[in-house]
Amino acid sequence: MLGFINNELKLLKQAGLIRDFTTISAIKGSRVKIDDKWYVSFCTNDYLGLSQHPAVIKSAQKAIKDIGWGSGASRLMGGTFSYHKDLESEIARFKNSDDALLFTSGYAVNLGVITTLVTKDDAIFCDALNHASLVDASRLTKAKLNIYRHRDVSHLDKLLQNARRTAHGARCRRFIITDAVFSMDGDTAPLADIVTLSKKYNAITIIDEAHSTGVLGKHGRGLAEYLNLEKEVNISIGTLSKAAGSIGGFVTGNKDLITYLRSKSRPFIFTTALPPAACAAGIEALRIIRRNPELREKLWNNTAYIKARLKESGFDFRGSETSIIPIMIGDAKKTFEVSQYLWKNGLFIPAIRPPTVPIGESRLRITITAMHTKKELDLLLKHLKAIVT
Ligand SMILES: *Cc1c(COP(=O)(O)O)cnc(C)c1O
Repeated sequence: MLGFINNELKLLKQAGLIRDFTTISAIKGSRVKIDDKWYVSFCTNDYLGLSQHPAVIKSAQKAIKDIGWGSGASRLMGGTFSYHKDLESEIARFKNSDDALLFTSGYAVNLGVITTLVTKDDAIFCDALNHASLVDASRLTKAKLNIYRHRDVSHLDKLLQNARRTAHGARCRRFIITDAVFSMDGDTAPLADIVTLSKKYNAITIIDEAHSTGVLGKHGRGLAEYLNLEKEVNISIGTLSKAAGSIGGFVTGNKDLITYLRSKSRPFIFTTALPPAACAAGIEALRIIRRNPELREKLWNNTAYIKARLKESGFDFRGSETSIIPIMIGDAKKTFEVSQYLWKNGLFIPAIRPPTVPIGESRLRITITAMHTKKELDLLLKHLKAIVT
């Protein structure tokens, strides 16, 4: 009966698309141990090193001691502990918003928000490079899905205009949905233009601040804070799995939005609540982000340092504006070879190839963190210069 899987696997193998893990057995700052050898990692989203922060670990340990590990039930059926409520309050305080709702991951929150608010009679407008979770969620709604060229607001304008002409009845709402920071290119959404169009067409703006939470803005609230547009964004989504070094997705907005999602959102309702200790870690991480702007500064200093050196040496890192730095190679095979060379020299940097990126746009994806030392950054530069020509 399952023979078809074997056939599919053969096709994947032929295309070089069988995926497997690299398994880490120990971690120390920016170094990871793999098969008994230590590597400098340039692929974590833990931008501030908070997954290893002593205060975060201590909070999680205390919660485990007090409560145990699992939450035992879904949020609405007895799985809500004070830790979940405290984390939601902390998220609302951190984001300076009325209220917040916690989901088990960033993927789940995107499914949960979008499939609950958007109906098949509505229209969605997505940037072509939006995260897979936003694309999947949009498809599940069965709404008309309009994809605009990456960061191309005049294309978005045109699509919004067309949708107005063809809208089926008064019911049609328009949702503009975008990543704040695009996860493969490290560039940012043209949010000022997007909110202008939102107003012009009476659309609702949803922004996914996954890679910008804890990273961008004076208080680390994300791209909308950085651009002073928080009031114009209707719905903000984030995750604790990146710069907060933990786990859990969240949505912030007004009280009605949160009450509605809590009562209606299936990916919120029909799943077990996060372990209380994970919430304790998230609370501590957000507090550290709020109180320690110097961590963010370190991240940006490291990023500026490596980018300046890369630029001097003529590397193409596209429109990257953040610590996600794509090193464009082009050919998939060559990219793999480069990645292997770096690996042999103690650097853990994944090769990103089709279908994750378009054919001819294979690249190394480097993420810089606050933990990297100048020595490690110089080592990266030395080996890159030796192999990429
Ligand atoms: C990583 C990411 C997610 C998924 O978040 P998880 O907490 O890892 O599930 C969602 N949206 C964007 C834009 C992301 O980069």
